[in-house]
Amino acid sequence: MTTLPDAKLYIDGKLRDAEGSKTFDVIGPWTGEVVGKAADASSADVDEAIAAARRAFDDTGWADPENRGERLRLVKKLRELFEENKGRLAELSRVEAGAALGAVAMAHVDNANLGWDDYIKVFEEVTWEEDLGQRDFRNMPSHRKIVYEPVGVVAAITPWNVPHYVNVGKVVAALLAGCTVILKPAPDTPGLGAIWGELAEQAGLPAGVLNVVFGSDPAAAGEQLVADPRVDLISFTGSTGVGKRIMEAGAQTLKRVFLELGGKSAKIVLDDAPNFARECAQSLLVFHAGQGCAVQSRLLVPRARYDEAKAALKAGYEGFGDNWGRFDEPTHIMGPVVSKRQQERVMSYIELGKEEGATLLAGGNARQDKGGGYFIEPTCFIDVDNSMRIAQEEIFGPVLVVIPFEDDEDAIRIANETPYGLSGGVVSADPVRAENVARRLRSGSVSVNGGMCIAGDLPFGGFKGSGMGREWGIAGIEEFLDSKVIAVGQAA
Ligand code: NAD
Repeated sequence: MTTLPDAKLYIDGKLRDAEGSKTFDVIGPWTGEVVGKAADASSADVDEAIAAARRAFDDTGWADPENRGERLRLVKKLRELFEENKGRLAELSRVEAGAALGAVAMAHVDNANLGWDDYIKVFEEVTWEEDLGQRDFRNMPSHRKIVYEPVGVVAAITPWNVPHYVNVGKVVAALLAGCTVILKPAPDTPGLGAIWGELAEQAGLPAGVLNVVFGSDPAAAGEQLVADPRVDLISFTGSTGVGKRIMEAGAQTLKRVFLELGGKSAKIVLDDAPNFARECAQSLLVFHAGQGCAVQSRLLVPRARYDEAKAALKAGYEGFGDNWGRFDEPTHIMGPVVSKRQQERVMSYIELGKEEGATLLAGGNARQDKGGGYFIEPTCFIDVDNSMRIAQEEIFGPVLVVIPFEDDEDAIRIANETPYGLSGGVVSADPVRAENVARRLRSGSVSVNGGMCIAGDLPFGGFKGSGMGREWGIAGIEEFLDSKVIAVGQAA
């Protein structure tokens, strides 16, 4: 297994070690062994990053309207450098995040970079100013304008599951909007953060516009960013529990918070679904070992066709077989889960499922024989009731639960009876029927008959416990803007 280059901090335009040259080990999910070293930022390092981002926002022209063209040029230059370094991004995604090669070619690297291109395209459509003309409001004539200005200093706190994708989602949009940024990746994936510092330096980004900090403690740097009054907005992707803490702690400085949280999305296969058996057999939760916030981790099938669905799923899992978990196999889309902690968490949910009375249709075991890393078999529970904890809580591993429903109303009820509301899917031979169901799901996106509801030009985000705000597309850039009204009277 590759040893990664040391992950350095990037503060005020300089790539550097942490205070006192402190480092921490990066553990690779494929082997459970050390794969690299990363700078372990101290509180003083984080403080310097905040000061640099504040200074760059307040005292340079970065945020000015005249600089929009220059921001776009630099963001495009950075995009070119990321393209040139695609091989390194792929390697980092594999070695740090445990992405299998087939997954790298999708969400981890390629989709992230395509999403970046979409941001560049939609940037042209951002409304920066609206001229509302004259209004004589109670004998006070005014010429009114609304201008849209960057919010200020943004702290982007990101998770380990698809790090590059989430880093692009936040950093590119914030920079285009005119904000300055402190990127704080998860301790599991510091290299995918450090590469931003290295390439920002090469692209010639002005000092302080982008800073990258990380440390061994998962909470310390993030909590400091949330508490500091010099940070204007927290853009967070991660678990719902941490999202709540951020909102609570951010209240002390009236922080704007933008939260992309967990999910427990449902795929509803209606009774008239074309190729019903194939549809079920293709619903295995295996991509990136189920570690995706928007994955469809609850499969809802008609009770009248439950036996058929079970048989199809069984055949699906048998067909998938042992075609996962090899580092060098380009067709594999599933590797290990990210860490020992995550493996233990997922295995505890598998035990819980058995205790709750669900039946294992496939998998259920950790697989040490796959190479010493954190491997868990593709796993499927049937006879699941939606009130069970395995149906309500986000497992974030390769564990699918299959729930029967009576009719469309019952399917909608079950799909919505969850604290989350991130995504979902509906399949039917009748697209109107499917869309009617989709419209009643309380979630930020829904795929109908396999439609792609997540792309760089579409707003992505959640209802309910899945968060607030939208990332990607024009809405993703607008999240980093504030409106200001200017009304010109006749006093002069
Ligand atoms: P996590 O919440 O543990 O950590 C996310 C980030 O927050 C990391 O950078 C971590 O270091 C930091 N952090 C941890 N404690 C903190 C605190 N007290 N204050 C500030 N920052 C803190 O999540 P994770 O385990 O890294 O990622 C998995 C979770 O992320 C899952 O719940 C998943 O659904 C969610 N996720 C959501 C989306 C989305 O767009 N909705 C995308 C990817 C992942």
